Amino acid sequence: MAYASIDQIISQVDAGNPCSPDQFPDFDPEDLKAWAYFMHVYLDFSQGVGWFVSWNKRREMEWPAFLPRYNEGSGRVDDLPLLGRLSHLEELRKILDYVSYCMGVWRIKPVIILGVTKVLGFSIDTEAIYEACFQRAKDARDVAWEKVMSYSARRLYPHADPWERPGGPNVVASGDQKDGEDVAFILPDITLLYLEANREWQQVFGDIGSGNIEIQSGYRTQNWQRRVSRARQSAHVAGAAIDVLPPRDFYQAFPFRERNYGQRISIGYLCWLFRRAAQNSPYFREIVVLNRGQPNETRVPRMPKTLCEPGTAHISFGWLLHAVGSRDVRQDVLPSVTRPYPVDANDPDAGTDVPTSRTRGEFQGPGRLDHLWDVFNPTQYATLNFGAISNQPDYSGGISAQWLADFINEALNNRGWDFGRLIRQHHVDRLTNQDARIGQID
Ligand SMILES: [Zn+2]
Repeated sequence: MAYASIDQIISQVDAGNPCSPDQFPDFDPEDLKAWAYFMHVYLDFSQGVGWFVSWNKRREMEWPAFLPRYNEGSGRVDDLPLLGRLSHLEELRKILDYVSYCMGVWRIKPVIILGVTKVLGFSIDTEAIYEACFQRAKDARDVAWEKVMSYSARRLYPHADPWERPGGPNVVASGDQKDGEDVAFILPDITLLYLEANREWQQVFGDIGSGNIEIQSGYRTQNWQRRVSRARQSAHVAGAAIDVLPPRDFYQAFPFRERNYGQRISIGYLCWLFRRAAQNSPYFREIVVLNRGQPNETRVPRMPKTLCEPGTAHISFGWLLHAVGSRDVRQDVLPSVTRPYPVDANDPDAGTDVPTSRTRGEFQGPGRLDHLWDVFNPTQYATLNFGAISNQPDYSGGISAQWLADFINEALNNRGWDFGRLIRQHHVDRLTNQDARIGQID
Protein backbone atom coordinates (compact mmCIF):
# COMPACT_ATOMS: atom_id res chain seq x y z
CA MET A 1 0.00 0.00 0.00
CA ALA A 2 1.33 3.42 -0.95
CA TYR A 3 2.05 5.97 1.75
CA ALA A 4 -0.32 8.90 2.14
CA SER A 5 0.95 12.30 1.00
CA ILE A 6 0.74 15.32 3.28
CA ASP A 7 -2.14 16.73 1.20
CA GLN A 8 -4.09 13.50 1.56
CA ILE A 9 -3.40 13.46 5.29
CA ILE A 10 -4.54 17.05 5.83
CA SER A 11 -7.71 16.45 3.83
CA GLN A 12 -8.51 13.34 5.90
CA VAL A 13 -7.47 14.42 9.41
CA ASP A 14 -9.04 17.48 11.03
CA ALA A 15 -6.37 19.23 13.11
CA GLY A 16 -8.85 20.33 15.75
CA ASN A 17 -10.74 17.05 15.95
CA PRO A 18 -8.52 14.25 14.65
CA CYS A 19 -9.22 10.54 14.33
CA SER A 20 -7.55 8.18 16.79
CA PRO A 21 -3.79 7.90 16.12
CA ASP A 22 -3.99 4.33 14.85
CA GLN A 23 -6.42 5.56 12.15
CA PHE A 24 -3.99 8.29 11.02
CA PRO A 25 -3.07 7.55 7.38
CA ASP A 26 0.10 5.51 7.01
CA PHE A 27 2.91 7.83 5.94
CA ASP A 28 6.51 7.48 4.80
CA PRO A 29 8.78 7.50 7.88
CA GLU A 30 11.10 9.88 6.03
CA ASP A 31 8.25 12.38 5.38
CA LEU A 32 8.95 15.23 7.81
CA LYS A 33 5.82 17.17 6.82
CA ALA A 34 3.67 14.19 7.77
CA TRP A 35 5.55 13.88 11.06
CA ALA A 36 5.05 17.57 11.77
CA TYR A 37 1.31 17.31 11.26
CA PHE A 38 1.08 14.09 13.30
CA MET A 39 2.95 15.71 16.20
CA HIS A 40 0.81 18.81 15.95
CA VAL A 41 -2.58 17.12 16.11
CA TYR A 42 -1.80 14.58 18.88
CA LEU A 43 1.16 15.69 20.97
CA ASP A 44 2.02 19.38 20.77
CA PHE A 45 -0.67 21.60 19.33
CA SER A 46 1.46 24.70 20.02
CA GLN A 47 4.31 23.31 17.86
CA GLY A 48 6.76 24.73 20.34
CA VAL A 49 5.56 28.32 19.91
CA GLY A 50 5.42 30.21 23.20
CA TRP A 51 7.21 29.43 26.40
CA PHE A 52 4.48 28.04 28.57
CA VAL A 53 3.18 24.51 28.67
CA SER A 54 0.98 25.34 31.61
CA TRP A 55 0.56 28.22 34.04
CA ASN A 56 3.55 27.27 36.08
CA LYS A 57 5.76 25.05 33.95
CA ARG A 58 8.29 26.42 31.52
CA ARG A 59 8.91 24.63 28.26
CA GLU A 60 12.15 22.70 28.52
CA MET A 61 12.49 21.38 25.01
CA GLU A 62 11.92 23.04 21.67
CA TRP A 63 10.12 21.78 18.59
CA PRO A 64 12.90 20.00 16.59
CA ALA A 65 14.64 22.55 14.37
CA PHE A 66 14.44 20.38 11.26
CA LEU A 67 10.66 19.84 11.56
CA PRO A 68 8.40 22.27 9.65
CA ARG A 69 5.25 23.65 11.25
CA TYR A 70 1.60 23.41 10.26
CA ASN A 71 0.35 26.82 9.22
CA GLU A 72 -3.23 27.37 10.29
CA GLY A 73 -3.65 30.35 7.98
CA SER A 74 -2.75 28.49 4.80
CA GLY A 75 -3.98 25.12 6.00
CA ARG A 76 -0.70 23.60 4.84
CA VAL A 77 2.53 22.42 6.39
CA ASP A 78 5.32 24.94 5.76
CA ASP A 79 8.35 24.05 3.66
CA LEU A 80 11.16 22.18 5.36
CA PRO A 81 13.64 24.38 7.21
CA LEU A 82 16.73 24.70 5.03
CA LEU A 83 19.34 24.32 7.72
CA GLY A 84 20.05 21.65 10.23
CA ARG A 85 19.25 18.52 8.23
CA LEU A 86 20.56 15.30 9.78
CA SER A 87 20.52 11.71 8.59
CA HIS A 88 17.02 10.22 8.53
CA LEU A 89 17.78 7.99 11.50
CA GLU A 90 19.10 10.88 13.58
CA GLU A 91 16.04 12.94 12.73
CA LEU A 92 13.77 10.08 13.72
CA ARG A 93 15.65 9.60 16.99
CA LYS A 94 15.15 13.31 17.75
CA ILE A 95 11.46 13.04 16.90
CA LEU A 96 11.18 10.22 19.46
CA ASP A 97 13.04 12.37 21.99
CA TYR A 98 10.45 15.05 21.40
CA VAL A 99 7.59 12.57 21.73
CA SER A 100 9.12 11.49 25.07
CA TYR A 101 9.38 15.09 26.19
CA CYS A 102 5.72 15.66 25.34
CA MET A 103 4.72 12.52 27.25
CA GLY A 104 6.68 13.79 30.24
CA VAL A 105 4.57 16.96 30.12
CA TRP A 106 1.29 15.12 29.54
CA ARG A 107 1.76 12.82 32.52
CA ILE A 108 1.69 15.77 34.94
CA LYS A 109 -1.96 16.32 35.67
CA PRO A 110 -2.78 20.00 35.10
CA VAL A 111 -4.52 22.19 37.63
CA ILE A 112 -7.55 23.50 35.77
CA ILE A 113 -7.76 27.20 36.60
CA LEU A 114 -10.90 29.20 35.92
CA GLY A 115 -12.31 26.34 33.90
CA VAL A 116 -9.61 26.19 31.26
CA THR A 117 -5.91 25.61 31.04
CA LYS A 118 -3.53 24.56 28.32
CA VAL A 119 -1.26 21.56 27.98
CA LEU A 120 1.11 21.85 25.02
CA GLY A 121 -1.35 24.12 23.26
CA PHE A 122 -4.41 21.90 23.83
CA SER A 123 -7.26 23.54 25.74
CA ILE A 124 -8.15 21.43 28.76
CA ASP A 125 -11.30 22.40 30.63
CA THR A 126 -12.30 19.22 32.40
CA GLU A 127 -10.51 16.27 33.90
CA ALA A 128 -12.24 14.00 31.37
CA ILE A 129 -10.80 16.00 28.49
CA TYR A 130 -7.35 15.77 30.05
CA GLU A 131 -7.67 11.98 30.40
CA ALA A 132 -8.87 11.62 26.81
CA CYS A 133 -6.06 13.79 25.42
CA PHE A 134 -3.45 11.98 27.52
CA GLN A 135 -4.67 8.59 26.30
CA ARG A 136 -4.66 9.83 22.71
CA ALA A 137 -1.09 11.09 23.22
CA LYS A 138 -0.10 7.62 24.49
CA ASP A 139 -1.63 6.01 21.42
CA ALA A 140 0.23 8.50 19.21
CA ARG A 141 3.43 7.70 21.11
CA ASP A 142 3.03 4.01 20.25
CA VAL A 143 2.34 4.73 16.58
CA ALA A 144 5.38 7.01 16.35
CA TRP A 145 7.79 4.62 18.05
CA GLU A 146 6.63 1.59 16.12
CA LYS A 147 6.98 3.45 12.83
CA VAL A 148 10.51 4.57 13.71
CA MET A 149 11.63 1.23 15.16
CA SER A 150 10.27 -0.68 12.18
CA TYR A 151 12.11 1.67 9.80
CA SER A 152 15.25 1.34 11.92
CA ALA A 153 15.09 -2.48 11.86
CA ARG A 154 14.66 -2.53 8.10
CA ARG A 155 17.80 -0.46 7.67
CA LEU A 156 19.65 -3.43 9.20
CA TYR A 157 18.10 -6.09 6.94
CA PRO A 158 20.91 -5.94 4.32
CA HIS A 159 23.41 -6.79 7.07
CA ALA A 160 21.79 -10.02 8.25
CA ASP A 161 24.13 -13.00 8.28
CA PRO A 162 23.15 -15.03 5.19
CA TRP A 163 24.07 -18.26 6.99
CA GLU A 164 21.87 -17.68 9.95
CA ARG A 165 18.34 -18.30 8.67
CA PRO A 166 18.62 -19.35 5.01
CA GLY A 167 15.35 -19.09 3.15
CA GLY A 168 13.53 -17.86 6.27
CA PRO A 169 12.57 -14.40 7.46
CA ASN A 170 15.36 -11.88 7.88
CA VAL A 171 17.18 -12.56 11.18
CA VAL A 172 16.82 -8.92 12.19
CA ALA A 173 13.08 -9.65 12.33
CA SER A 174 11.24 -11.76 14.86
CA GLY A 175 10.14 -14.74 12.83
CA ASP A 176 6.52 -13.63 13.28
CA GLN A 177 4.54 -11.95 10.55
CA LYS A 178 1.76 -9.38 10.46
CA ASP A 179 -0.15 -8.58 7.26
CA GLY A 180 2.40 -10.64 5.32
CA GLU A 181 5.37 -8.61 6.60
CA ASP A 182 8.09 -9.63 9.04
CA VAL A 183 7.62 -8.00 12.42
CA ALA A 184 10.77 -6.12 13.39
CA PHE A 185 11.40 -3.29 15.84
CA ILE A 186 14.89 -2.00 16.67
CA LEU A 187 15.83 1.16 18.56
CA PRO A 188 17.30 3.76 16.19
CA ASP A 189 20.24 4.08 18.62
CA ILE A 190 21.20 0.48 17.85
CA THR A 191 21.00 1.00 14.10
CA LEU A 192 22.94 4.28 14.20
CA LEU A 193 25.64 2.62 16.28
CA TYR A 194 25.78 -0.45 14.04
CA LEU A 195 26.30 1.79 10.99
CA GLU A 196 29.13 3.64 12.78
CA ALA A 197 30.85 0.47 13.94
CA ASN A 198 30.43 -1.14 10.53
CA ARG A 199 32.10 1.85 8.87
CA GLU A 200 35.09 1.27 11.15
CA TRP A 201 35.07 -2.45 10.35
CA GLN A 202 34.94 -1.75 6.60
CA GLN A 203 37.95 0.57 6.84
CA VAL A 204 40.02 -2.27 8.28
CA PHE A 205 38.58 -5.56 7.03
CA GLY A 206 36.25 -4.40 4.24
CA ASP A 207 38.10 -6.57 1.70
CA ILE A 208 37.23 -9.88 3.44
CA GLY A 209 34.00 -11.76 2.74
CA SER A 210 30.95 -9.48 2.67
CA GLY A 211 33.12 -6.74 4.15
CA ASN A 212 30.45 -6.03 6.76
CA ILE A 213 29.75 -6.90 10.36
CA GLU A 214 26.90 -9.41 10.13
CA ILE A 215 23.84 -9.65 12.34
CA GLN A 216 22.85 -13.01 13.83
CA SER A 217 19.79 -11.90 15.73
CA GLY A 218 17.75 -8.73 16.20
CA TYR A 219 14.19 -8.22 17.35
CA ARG A 220 12.39 -11.13 18.98
CA THR A 221 8.77 -11.45 19.96
CA GLN A 222 8.25 -13.18 23.29
CA ASN A 223 7.25 -16.33 21.40
CA TRP A 224 10.39 -16.23 19.33
CA GLN A 225 12.51 -15.61 22.41
CA ARG A 226 11.10 -18.78 24.01
CA ARG A 227 12.01 -20.75 20.91
CA VAL A 228 15.59 -19.53 20.55
CA SER A 229 16.70 -19.13 24.15
CA ARG A 230 16.20 -20.59 27.57
CA ALA A 231 16.30 -17.10 29.08
CA ARG A 232 12.80 -15.74 29.47
CA GLN A 233 13.84 -12.13 29.31
CA SER A 234 16.06 -10.42 26.82
CA ALA A 235 16.74 -6.93 25.52
CA HIS A 236 16.05 -8.47 22.10
CA VAL A 237 12.37 -8.57 23.03
CA ALA A 238 12.41 -4.82 23.67
CA GLY A 239 14.05 -4.16 20.29
CA ALA A 240 17.11 -2.98 22.18
CA ALA A 241 19.80 -5.51 21.19
CA ILE A 242 21.50 -7.16 18.24
CA ASP A 243 23.96 -10.05 18.07
CA VAL A 244 26.85 -9.57 15.67
CA LEU A 245 29.81 -11.45 14.21
CA PRO A 246 32.32 -10.70 11.46
CA PRO A 247 31.76 -12.42 8.10
CA ARG A 248 32.30 -16.15 8.41
CA ASP A 249 35.21 -15.96 5.91
CA PHE A 250 37.03 -13.76 8.41
CA TYR A 251 36.98 -15.95 11.49
CA GLN A 252 37.23 -19.22 9.60
CA ALA A 253 40.53 -18.01 8.14
CA PHE A 254 42.04 -18.64 11.57
CA PRO A 255 43.70 -22.01 12.15
CA PHE A 256 42.87 -23.84 15.39
CA ARG A 257 39.32 -23.73 14.13
CA GLU A 258 38.22 -26.37 16.57
CA ARG A 259 39.17 -24.06 19.39
CA ASN A 260 37.20 -21.20 17.98
CA TYR A 261 40.06 -18.75 18.19
CA GLY A 262 38.85 -16.78 15.19
CA GLN A 263 35.31 -16.47 16.45
CA ARG A 264 36.14 -15.66 20.05
CA ILE A 265 38.79 -13.10 19.21
CA SER A 266 36.35 -11.53 16.75
CA ILE A 267 33.64 -11.32 19.42
CA GLY A 268 35.97 -9.62 21.89
CA TYR A 269 37.10 -7.17 19.25
CA LEU A 270 33.52 -6.30 18.22
CA CYS A 271 32.57 -5.61 21.86
CA TRP A 272 35.43 -3.14 22.04
CA LEU A 273 34.69 -1.70 18.58
CA PHE A 274 31.03 -0.93 19.27
CA ARG A 275 31.95 0.92 22.46
CA ARG A 276 34.70 2.78 20.71
CA ALA A 277 32.37 3.74 17.86
CA ALA A 278 29.92 5.17 20.41
CA GLN A 279 32.72 6.97 22.20
CA ASN A 280 34.04 8.57 19.02
CA SER A 281 30.72 9.57 17.50
CA PRO A 282 29.41 13.07 18.22
CA TYR A 283 25.90 11.61 18.17
CA PHE A 284 26.45 9.27 21.11
CA ARG A 285 27.92 11.86 23.49
CA GLU A 286 25.75 11.86 26.58
CA ILE A 287 22.25 11.48 27.83
CA VAL A 288 20.65 13.13 30.81
CA VAL A 289 19.29 10.69 33.36
CA LEU A 290 16.60 11.91 35.74
CA ASN A 291 14.70 10.37 38.62
CA ARG A 292 17.56 8.38 40.03
CA GLY A 293 16.85 9.63 43.50
CA GLN A 294 19.35 12.43 43.08
CA PRO A 295 18.56 16.13 43.22
CA ASN A 296 20.48 16.93 40.07
CA GLU A 297 20.40 15.33 36.69
CA THR A 298 23.17 12.87 35.85
CA ARG A 299 24.96 12.78 32.54
CA VAL A 300 25.79 9.31 31.27
CA PRO A 301 27.72 8.41 28.11
CA ARG A 302 25.40 6.92 25.53
CA MET A 303 27.45 3.74 25.41
CA PRO A 304 26.12 0.27 24.62
CA LYS A 305 26.27 -2.61 27.04
CA THR A 306 28.35 -5.24 25.27
CA LEU A 307 28.39 -8.93 26.14
CA CYS A 308 31.25 -11.09 24.93
CA GLU A 309 29.12 -14.24 24.75
CA PRO A 310 30.64 -17.59 23.72
CA GLY A 311 29.05 -17.59 20.25
CA THR A 312 28.27 -13.96 19.51
CA ALA A 313 28.80 -10.33 20.48
CA HIS A 314 25.60 -9.02 22.08
CA ILE A 315 25.20 -5.24 21.70
CA SER A 316 22.46 -3.72 23.83
CA PHE A 317 20.86 -0.40 24.67
CA GLY A 318 18.37 -1.96 27.06
CA TRP A 319 19.65 0.32 29.82
CA LEU A 320 18.66 3.42 27.80
CA LEU A 321 15.03 2.35 28.14
CA HIS A 322 15.34 1.99 31.89
CA ALA A 323 17.23 5.27 32.25
CA VAL A 324 13.95 7.03 31.44
CA GLY A 325 12.94 6.68 35.07
CA SER A 326 10.87 4.60 37.43
CA ARG A 327 8.43 2.02 36.18
CA ASP A 328 5.53 4.50 36.39
CA VAL A 329 7.41 7.05 34.30
CA ARG A 330 8.40 4.43 31.74
CA GLN A 331 4.83 3.26 31.36
CA ASP A 332 3.78 6.79 30.41
CA VAL A 333 6.81 7.84 28.38
CA LEU A 334 7.88 4.67 26.55
CA PRO A 335 5.85 2.76 23.98
CA SER A 336 4.46 -0.65 24.82
CA VAL A 337 6.76 -2.31 22.25
CA THR A 338 9.84 -1.50 24.37
CA ARG A 339 8.37 -2.77 27.65
CA PRO A 340 7.09 -6.19 26.71
CA TYR A 341 7.30 -7.67 30.20
CA PRO A 342 4.56 -7.26 32.74
CA VAL A 343 7.08 -6.74 35.51
CA ASP A 344 10.07 -4.54 36.14
CA ALA A 345 13.37 -6.11 35.12
CA ASN A 346 15.13 -4.10 37.83
CA ASP A 347 12.84 -5.19 40.60
CA PRO A 348 14.28 -8.18 42.50
CA ASP A 349 10.84 -8.93 43.96
CA ALA A 350 9.09 -8.84 40.64
CA GLY A 351 7.52 -12.28 40.70
CA THR A 352 7.74 -14.93 38.02
CA ASP A 353 9.57 -12.93 35.39
CA VAL A 354 12.55 -12.06 37.56
CA PRO A 355 15.50 -11.70 35.20
CA THR A 356 18.80 -13.40 35.66
CA SER A 357 21.50 -11.28 37.25
CA ARG A 358 23.03 -10.88 33.81
CA THR A 359 19.84 -9.46 32.31
CA ARG A 360 19.39 -7.18 35.29
CA GLY A 361 22.90 -5.76 34.81
CA GLU A 362 22.16 -5.15 31.17
CA PHE A 363 19.24 -2.89 32.08
CA GLN A 364 21.20 -0.94 34.67
CA GLY A 365 23.83 0.71 32.52
CA PRO A 366 26.67 0.19 30.05
CA GLY A 367 29.15 -0.76 32.74
CA ARG A 368 32.80 -1.07 31.87
CA LEU A 369 34.84 -3.46 29.78
CA ASP A 370 36.03 -5.97 32.34
CA HIS A 371 38.55 -7.33 31.31
CA LEU A 372 40.05 -5.55 28.37
CA TRP A 373 42.78 -7.31 26.41
CA ASP A 374 44.87 -4.39 25.29
CA VAL A 375 48.50 -5.55 25.36
CA PHE A 376 49.23 -8.76 23.52
CA ASN A 377 51.83 -11.06 25.04
CA PRO A 378 53.39 -13.28 22.32
CA THR A 379 54.21 -16.07 24.77
CA GLN A 380 50.49 -16.65 25.34
CA TYR A 381 49.48 -16.83 21.75
CA ALA A 382 48.68 -20.55 21.63
CA THR A 383 47.01 -20.73 25.04
CA LEU A 384 44.61 -17.82 25.17
CA ASN A 385 42.21 -18.04 28.08
CA PHE A 386 38.95 -16.68 26.71
CA GLY A 387 37.35 -17.25 30.07
CA ALA A 388 39.23 -14.15 31.18
CA ILE A 389 37.50 -11.80 28.74
CA SER A 390 34.13 -13.45 28.74
CA ASN A 391 34.45 -13.30 32.53
CA GLN A 392 31.47 -15.54 32.98
CA PRO A 393 28.70 -14.88 33.86
CA ASP A 394 29.20 -11.21 33.10
CA TYR A 395 30.60 -11.61 29.58
CA SER A 396 31.86 -8.08 29.97
CA GLY A 397 35.29 -8.14 28.34
CA GLY A 398 36.71 -6.90 25.09
CA ILE A 399 39.76 -6.91 22.83
CA SER A 400 41.29 -3.71 21.53
CA ALA A 401 42.47 -3.01 17.98
CA GLN A 402 46.03 -2.86 19.24
CA TRP A 403 45.82 -6.34 20.78
CA LEU A 404 44.31 -7.73 17.58
CA ALA A 405 46.99 -6.05 15.43
CA ASP A 406 49.75 -7.49 17.60
CA PHE A 407 48.16 -10.94 17.59
CA ILE A 408 47.82 -11.04 13.80
CA ASN A 409 51.31 -9.64 13.39
CA GLU A 410 52.76 -12.35 15.62
CA ALA A 411 50.79 -15.08 13.83
CA LEU A 412 51.79 -13.90 10.35
CA ASN A 413 55.44 -13.14 10.98
CA ASN A 414 56.60 -15.44 13.77
CA ARG A 415 54.21 -18.38 13.80
CA GLY A 416 53.72 -19.02 10.10
CA TRP A 417 49.92 -18.65 9.99
CA ASP A 418 48.71 -17.55 6.59
CA PHE A 419 45.00 -17.10 7.43
CA GLY A 420 44.15 -18.59 4.03
CA ARG A 421 45.81 -15.46 2.59
CA LEU A 422 42.77 -13.44 3.66
CA ILE A 423 44.08 -11.65 6.76
CA ARG A 424 47.33 -9.91 5.88
CA GLN A 425 49.89 -7.33 6.86
CA HIS A 426 47.89 -4.36 5.57
CA HIS A 427 45.15 -5.27 8.08
CA VAL A 428 47.70 -5.03 10.87
CA ASP A 429 48.65 -1.57 9.65
CA ARG A 430 45.04 -0.42 9.45
CA LEU A 431 44.25 -1.77 12.92
CA THR A 432 47.24 0.05 14.34
CA ASN A 433 45.73 3.29 13.09
CA GLN A 434 42.54 2.74 15.08
CA ASP A 435 42.51 4.23 18.55
CA ALA A 436 44.24 1.69 20.74
CA ARG A 437 42.51 2.32 24.01
CA ILE A 438 39.04 2.99 25.26
CA GLY A 439 38.52 4.91 28.46
CA GLN A 440 36.87 3.13 31.34
CA ILE A 441 33.30 4.12 31.90
CA ASP A 442 31.73 4.79 35.24
ZN1 LIG B 1 21.90 -11.26 22.12
